[in-house]
Amino acid sequence: MKKVLLLDNHNHPINICTWKRALILLMKGKAENARRLNDIENMIKVENILIPRVIKLTYDLAVPYKELPFCRENILVRDDFVCQYCGKKFKPEELTLDHVFPKSRLGPDIWENIVACCKDCNQKKADRTPKEARMKLLRRPFRPKDYLKFELLKYPAAVVKYWCEFFAYDLATS
Ligand SMILES: [Zn+2]
Repeated sequence: MKKVLLLDNHNHPINICTWKRALILLMKGKAENARRLNDIENMIKVENILIPRVIKLTYDLAVPYKELPFCRENILVRDDFVCQYCGKKFKPEELTLDHVFPKSRLGPDIWENIVACCKDCNQKKADRTPKEARMKLLRRPFRPKDYLKFELLKYPAAVVKYWCEFFAYDLATS
């Protein structure tokens, strides 16, 4: 996992970048090691170069708002690979996407109308609303707001834990 967490100059995480990008920012003086410690644990090693796992911009940057792509993968991540009807966790390939208000009745393709759903529940619900099918949604589907917090969910837990540990980036508030 040769990725680097990038913070703005107020220590707020703004991006996850490749080690190459991190190296360029460091060499240009646009970023610095966020921890100010050079111990090996805080570095990743790429081709004999040590790069900090977390870097921080040295200048003020207004970060533009980034819209999260609406796609199958992101819906599954939002729902934590849990079927939103039976509450069980599945592998990505075992999940389908369900239109809460049925597609056959012109239910729209939007964040607020699509949920992760296992094949059994999808078959059971068929072309009905949850109420008609007497199936309860675990929670109301929503459009995720914070792009970066959402991106972090896709990384291995150990990497995210390292990033979060030092910068108190609270995933629970997403
Ligand atoms: Zn299910």
